[in-house]
Amino acid sequence: MVTPDDIRYEALCRAYNYRFVAKPDYFRLVHSTGQVEDAVREAVSAGKRIAVRSRGHCGEDFVAAPDVKVIIDLSPMSHIGFDEERNAFVIEAGAPVGKMIHELFHNWGVTIPCGFCMGVGAGGHISGGGYGPLARLLGLSVDYLYAVEVVVVGEDGTVSTVVASREQDDPNRELWWAHTGGGGGNFGVITRYWMRSPEASGSDPAGLLPQPPGALHIAEVSWPWADLTEQDFVRLLGNFMAWQMANSVDGAPNVDIYAMLTCLHRSAGNLMMHAHVPADATNAAARLDVFLAALNDGVGVTPLVRRQSLPWLAASQYLAVPETGPFAITLRCKVKSADLRTPHTEEQLSTIYRHLTRDDYQGTYSAIDYIAYGGKVNTVPPGATAIPRGAVVKTFYMVTWHDSAEDDRHIRWIRELYRDVHSSTGGVPVPDENHTGAYVNYADIDLADPEWNTSTVAWPELYYGENYPRLQAVKAKWDPMNIFNHTLSIRPVSS
Ligand SMILES: Cc1cc2nc3c(=O)[nH]c(=O)nc-3n(C[C@H](O)[C@H](O)[C@H](O)COP(=O)(O)OP(=O)(O)OC[C@H]3O[C@@H](n4cnc5c(N)ncnc54)[C@H](O)[C@@H]3O)c2cc1C
Repeated sequence: MVTPDDIRYEALCRAYNYRFVAKPDYFRLVHSTGQVEDAVREAVSAGKRIAVRSRGHCGEDFVAAPDVKVIIDLSPMSHIGFDEERNAFVIEAGAPVGKMIHELFHNWGVTIPCGFCMGVGAGGHISGGGYGPLARLLGLSVDYLYAVEVVVVGEDGTVSTVVASREQDDPNRELWWAHTGGGGGNFGVITRYWMRSPEASGSDPAGLLPQPPGALHIAEVSWPWADLTEQDFVRLLGNFMAWQMANSVDGAPNVDIYAMLTCLHRSAGNLMMHAHVPADATNAAARLDVFLAALNDGVGVTPLVRRQSLPWLAASQYLAVPETGPFAITLRCKVKSADLRTPHTEEQLSTIYRHLTRDDYQGTYSAIDYIAYGGKVNTVPPGATAIPRGAVVKTFYMVTWHDSAEDDRHIRWIRELYRDVHSSTGGVPVPDENHTGAYVNYADIDLADPEWNTSTVAWPELYYGENYPRLQAVKAKWDPMNIFNHTLSIRPVSS
């Protein structure tokens, strides 16, 4: 237990996003499922509000809210191993993604598709879906989720531990399903995940999860803002989206090309893109060239391109920006997201140009990322997991800064940008023929705010689409007292 008089307390009050400083009565740093049970039991019987934290990358104050009295911190539970009994890899919830990638690869030569920011925690990440550079080839983290262990609280306050698996005859299967995209902080404390490919057979661990590519051909590309006209920008972003729409069906020849185009505000200097392709794929380097040429077609600026080939593990570190480096310490941030089925309209492209070139605003990391998606992700039927399917490009809006005095201007900029891009659907990406909605792991409380969501679609539908009522039923069964809640948590009944 860490209380305010403990030297560790102030450090624990802060996580990735320095906008939020927790002030609980105490933290429980837990090392085992038994300790989690004890910590939950103690808090419930004292009537204290609980929040759970794995690695603290939440975009909102779901863990650090002022009325949270007890924070159960799972960061000491970060073991990654192979469980012979369940014939699956076990990942404790406090493991950071970077450790997961590293240990699965080093010890067994396997991986799971997951995010590229190495400090993000398995606890929040996997339960919300988990996507990354391998998504087009391998799908989402949850597509490999075999089982999950959760500490839950019954309607009489009894605390117990339950394991829920994807086996069709598992009576707890709905709880497993809810952890395939329902998001953290909803049903109980996730202590462990077990991962195995759905189609895997045998007992050799090396065959139970996919292998990553051995090496990647990488292109780091930058376009100087100073040289780009509006026409160039619109053409470039339009080309990017058109290419993704044409090359993102599972099994298509170029589905192995991954790219993330980071459209930074002009004051940052450049637009940037990371692209890569498995080095051993047919015509890998040549196809990457063709992709780069298609992207720049009709753009009046020649980008700077840096090419290299790297072993997969080293290459996977490349995308860990802006999380790594000195600028990541004491970072304040606000994030938003929209998952696209179709390209932006000309009007949307112009709107984005206008906001990215606003003279009354400056920011060193104020950006929309356009991230190649689709492929294998969209081979899973919509209701098979809780996370919606069908998007081809993910957009991730992120603004970061350091000085609390600048909170208002950065938050206003990202809100106005997002609202204007989605102005034809009430300022939000309403699930329709153009969008699948927003991504629950990019928590954004504005979706529940009538000032910023003027559509008739409530935030749960934006995150979960048609899966929300089923998630509510799981919530009602497994957390009937709504012990685990936050601003955007699943409500037990329709509200
Ligand atoms: C810089 C950055 C980069 C990112 N990159 C990616 C990416 O590439 N791909 C991607 O898919 N996502 C990405 N994300 C989103 C990330 O997956 C989510 O923010 C995720 O929820 C973080 O998990 P955490 O455990 O670190 O966060 P926390 O702040 O610890 O938790 C987030 C939420 O989950 C709950 N929670 C955490 N642990 C548990 C648990 N053990 N049991 C029950 N509930 C729990 C918390 O209560 C909270 O509501 C990124 C986020 C950031 C800030």
